[in-house]
Amino acid sequence: MTRGKLFVVPTPIGNLKDITLRALEILNSVDIIAAEDTRQTLKLTNHYNIKKTLISYHQHNEQGKSDNLIEILKEGKSIALVSDAGTPGISDPGSVIISKCIEEDIDFEVLPGATAAITALVYSGMDTTKFLFRGFIPRDNKDRKVVMEEVKDRKETLIFYEAPHRLINTLEFLKENLGQRRIAICRELTKLHEEIMRFTIDEAIKHYKVNNPRGEYVLIVEGKSEEAIEQEEISKWEGLTIEQHILKYMNEGFSKKDAIKKTAKDRKLSKSEVYKYSLNI
Ligand code: SAM
Repeated sequence: MTRGKLFVVPTPIGNLKDITLRALEILNSVDIIAAEDTRQTLKLTNHYNIKKTLISYHQHNEQGKSDNLIEILKEGKSIALVSDAGTPGISDPGSVIISKCIEEDIDFEVLPGATAAITALVYSGMDTTKFLFRGFIPRDNKDRKVVMEEVKDRKETLIFYEAPHRLINTLEFLKENLGQRRIAICRELTKLHEEIMRFTIDEAIKHYKVNNPRGEYVLIVEGKSEEAIEQEEISKWEGLTIEQHILKYMNEGFSKKDAIKKTAKDRKLSKSEVYKYSLNI
């Protein structure tokens, strides 16, 4: 029996027009649409007059439901997988069924389309050549500390998703762990109340304490800057005078010349500047 095919279909993140012609064609042609929330997907299918059988595929039934979908695909039926908004698999169910299709050698196609992270990243005006998407920051304090440890020294632009009721707390947490940085807060993308605010994290905290957060948010945080990295390197040596710094290396067995060279490098100073401090050693 010919096997069916799975189509991973991105849907709009707000504006219903943000769906591709191919996505509509596929939603119209498959046997079944597997949806994160069938009521939510019905709004889209009704809008485009698409009449299909909808079955639910969400976070809590993803494992079991994937096996079920694989059976349907093996029976030769085609399935379109959609989430409530944006691209399935991006902070949404999707990855389990995709890995099962790979395991079972079932054909699948992923369509390109809307995703809040990328729209927000481009809106931010920050470095788009390298970025790190971390989705929702975990709620548990220990888990979210682990995420901060992983990202705090990264130079890439950071992308987080956040719910409105947790926004202020998350901003305070980001300030505490990443220090003062530039942040772009992208709210209600593609919707009527779309708003892009560009701040420092402190300014953002002040703003949202007065203006109650509402709607959906993507946070784009600048990566660690070269200056911050350099400053941190230099401040490592704050406890030593320049003379002590040279002596430290000499005690480790370096020649005076090499100790001067290494000290100058550590402190981002010129060798001639450091040399002056070595005259009394
Ligand atoms: N799969 C989606 C995607 O491709 O972007 C993400 C789904 S995730 C469950 C939902 C989160 O995405 C929201 O809490 C918010 O952080 C972000 N999001 C989704 N739509 C958005 C929009 N229109 N404006 C801002 N953020 C949005």
